Amino acid sequence: MNVTLEQIVSLAKRRGFVFPGSEIYGGLAGTFDYGPLGVALKKNIENLWWRMVVEERDDMYGIDAAILMNPKAWEASGHVSGFSDPLVACSNCKKRFREDHIEDREVCPECGKKGTLGEARQFNMMFATKAGASEDESATVYLRPETAGGMFVNFKNVVDSFHPKLPFGLAQIGKAFRNEIAPREFVFRVRELEQMEVEYFVRPDAWKEAFEEWRVGMLAFAKAIGLPSSMLHELEVAPQDRAHYSERTIDFEFDYPFGRRELWGLAYRTDFDLRAHQEGSSVSLEYQDEETKTKFLPHVIEPSLGVGRTMLAVLASAYREDELGGEKRVYLALEPKIAPVKAMVSPLLKNKPELVEKAREVRKALQKIHPAIAWDDNGNIGKRYRRQDEIGTPFCITIDFDTLGETPDLKDTVTLRHRDTGEQERLSIAEAAEKIRAALV
Ligand code: ATP
Repeated sequence: MNVTLEQIVSLAKRRGFVFPGSEIYGGLAGTFDYGPLGVALKKNIENLWWRMVVEERDDMYGIDAAILMNPKAWEASGHVSGFSDPLVACSNCKKRFREDHIEDREVCPECGKKGTLGEARQFNMMFATKAGASEDESATVYLRPETAGGMFVNFKNVVDSFHPKLPFGLAQIGKAFRNEIAPREFVFRVRELEQMEVEYFVRPDAWKEAFEEWRVGMLAFAKAIGLPSSMLHELEVAPQDRAHYSERTIDFEFDYPFGRRELWGLAYRTDFDLRAHQEGSSVSLEYQDEETKTKFLPHVIEPSLGVGRTMLAVLASAYREDELGGEKRVYLALEPKIAPVKAMVSPLLKNKPELVEKAREVRKALQKIHPAIAWDDNGNIGKRYRRQDEIGTPFCITIDFDTLGETPDLKDTVTLRHRDTGEQERLSIAEAAEKIRAALV
């Protein structure tokens, strides 16, 4: 369905997925705080990526590098001189814009005046801060603008500790900071973001196969988190639009409520980074090839995925409104694997101790399959289902008098309700548990 950004923002706030950063102080542009359900959804997305990209492979090494790095690393990588966006300001309303985001250079997008936009100047997007008490220039350090740098500087450490054979890669999930000129569109463009990145090292003549392998892998991940292929588009970035070191780049674009925009990127970065860090650090980063007895700098393929943009794509594609039992409802058709809550268990009536006791027992048993099994005994059963629909819980289980044996044939059976259809089936507790387990693998 055509969901609006407002509908997503409102659901995210109402149900505790994502809140504006520092909200009681009026917020801070470009920052958001994840609430309990948002943390769960985000972690499920990250854990699934980690499993597919690191744990299920033999050629991948996980890293969690420091956010603060020696500033020389950012000089070597070109970020100090070149990580900038063209900024233009309006002399009338004083607003600033990214030049490449303005549709008509003659008219200010904010106040609508003509001819008030000034010359573009380059604005470095790295956040700088001071390390230690010294006010000295040399104490300036940067919050990393991408996680990639932490992997390149650890290339040698991983090679020395694990002696991996090419091709192999490093992966990292972590925060990055960009002083975006115009943060907007909810978590799409923020100043404090999270990335899931891979640096995959290959022999220079083997980059094409590796690029293709990761392209296919990114599509497999998109499928695993439930992004419909009809909303995902691969854009082959034209040579003149690529970063100077990139020989091939694909932007994975997604149909967000506000238009088609970059979700993830995949780039072939040659040996640009290792070469730059080798020169910057004066430490050899060459790979010693035991087979051919040669030394060379491996080339790199970089899949780069923003966590917030992924979560927003997931919410936008899962959001549904329909009518059930004559009432309008909102639900999230989330993949069970990433849903924050996997199932909700409920006693039909909360003032009947025997129902409550049985329901607690069932919940405990289900929590052996997955801990995220909610409890709700509040209000009528229809309302409980709606509350779970709205946060994307795939299953609800209700314990009633038949479960306790009021109808002897139905003893130890429950109703299992399915989120997307609202359909209910009567099953044994063991069968219901099996359905939940099967949906999570
Ligand atoms: P854009 O052109 O939209 O500014 P970019 O090309 O600069 O993005 P990359 O440097 O390729 O982005 O970063 C890799 C990934 O990190 C992006 O594909 C996106 O998922 C995420 N990302 C980058 N900048 C932001 C941001 N400001 N807010 C949220 N996610 C971001």
